[in-house]
Amino acid sequence: MKNFLIASIALVLFSCASKEKADMLIYNATIYTVDSAFSAAEAMVIKDGKILATGKTADLQKEYEAAEKIDALGKFIYPGFIDAHAHFVGYGMSLQRVDLTGTNSWEEVLEKVKAFAAINKEGWITGRGWDQNDWAVKEFPTNEKLNELFPDRPVLITRIDGHAAVANQKALDLAGVKAGDTLTGGEVEEMEGTLTGILIDNAVDLVSSKIPDATPEEYKKALQAAEKNCFAMGLTTIDDCGLGYEAVDGIKKLQTSGDLKMRLYVMLSDEKKNYDYAEKNGMIKTDRLNVRSFKVYGDGALGSRGACLLQPYSDKPGHYGFLLSNPAHFDSVANWISQKGWQMCTHAIGDSGNRTMLNIYAKYLKGNNDLRWRIEHAQVVNQNDFNLFGTNSIVPSVQPTHATSDMYWAGDRLGAERVKGAYAYQQLLKQNGWLPLGTDFPVEDISTFKTFYAAVVRKDAKGWPADGYQMENALTREQALRGMTIWAAKSNFEEKEKGSLEKGKFADFVILDSDIMKETPEKLLQIKVLKTFLGGEKVYEKK
Ligand SMILES: [Zn+2]
Repeated sequence: MKNFLIASIALVLFSCASKEKADMLIYNATIYTVDSAFSAAEAMVIKDGKILATGKTADLQKEYEAAEKIDALGKFIYPGFIDAHAHFVGYGMSLQRVDLTGTNSWEEVLEKVKAFAAINKEGWITGRGWDQNDWAVKEFPTNEKLNELFPDRPVLITRIDGHAAVANQKALDLAGVKAGDTLTGGEVEEMEGTLTGILIDNAVDLVSSKIPDATPEEYKKALQAAEKNCFAMGLTTIDDCGLGYEAVDGIKKLQTSGDLKMRLYVMLSDEKKNYDYAEKNGMIKTDRLNVRSFKVYGDGALGSRGACLLQPYSDKPGHYGFLLSNPAHFDSVANWISQKGWQMCTHAIGDSGNRTMLNIYAKYLKGNNDLRWRIEHAQVVNQNDFNLFGTNSIVPSVQPTHATSDMYWAGDRLGAERVKGAYAYQQLLKQNGWLPLGTDFPVEDISTFKTFYAAVVRKDAKGWPADGYQMENALTREQALRGMTIWAAKSNFEEKEKGSLEKGKFADFVILDSDIMKETPEKLLQIKVLKTFLGGEKVYEKK
């Protein structure tokens, strides 16, 4: 008995001494690792910002000595969400303006502008989103009140569609706009020889062009505001689809100084200055920044009938939409990108836009490959063209909330037959066996839960349509979660470092208050992020 006791004590001492040191142990959780087997774990160990192990709580407690232990209280853990298509910088900038959407009167607009100006005490006051059609008096306002409120600060607030704006006198003075001015493609409104402040189309640019570029301090504030909201949604990597190199340099600086933590995958936009920059600097790859792709703009959008279609719009006879450049331009860009070994990501919405780009891609990709060239949106695809994605390993990058935002009128634009090839996510997924998902914020809301809900349930927030929209193209929950994590990582060439919770990967993860894999469809949109971790550091906690 005595010998046995000594042996046991020795064993305990020995196992204590041999415990591996770690920074953090999270236990008592349901962890969806999103590894290839889609396996679950109870606990996870983290060291130096990376995952050391996942497994059973008892096993990991035995094996590791963690400086910090977090009881997850039975909650649910997933890899940090990755938004494969968004506009991070644009969103940050939009947060620096007054949001006037949904205002019900000119008086309400003024109140919002006043409140904004009280917090943002210097420089131009800009805003967007008013719509006089929502007001009791459905007429354009005048700038009279704005002049009284802000005699010394320029104000420019744009209508919801961007085609009209109100400027105060200070802004008009800075732009040199005077009564009697005329211009092509625009109008400066006046009443009895006096400017009303209303500017139409190109006249808006007369004033907006005078707004100074964001200072480094403003840029920092904008990106930090965007980052804060994204962390609160469980996002730990964002694809910014189309930036100039100056914006990339700005991001690099903020990340280096520690002022910006978000991991960003940046596509340079299709402009000569950016190709020159890429030529000179090559690809950029750090733990938080990855620049190795170009964003090209194929055609317009479906809502405004700019998407390029093979047959005329069903609700506008003879109208096909348009490509944004001629095919020779797309071809020469594809040639450059192919030679340099970068990734090409092209916005294509209409079936003609998609066909044009798929054929140009095929010319350079020449069948099966691992270059991961992407078509952003792949929104309307002709039934004869789906196979081009698979045969050339072209990655469709889709935004499920576009389906549920557009479903009210997409059938009008496309007709009953053609619309079946629209928002066809399951059909697209089958082409390569994987599919990255995004939101396209700020065009859509930044919510990852809305993306998940739209992908899986395909209804609006009120539960319409009762049977879901074109449900043959709904994704399973596992597919949707993979699309927001590991498949999004793969579309960025980052699947070896993130996208799943596996040994050696970044400890980017999110704790949710409910299980996104099992919660009822009606309650999916109410799920809350409790905590978000990036590289093992807590970057968000629900108050
Ligand atoms: Zn976009």
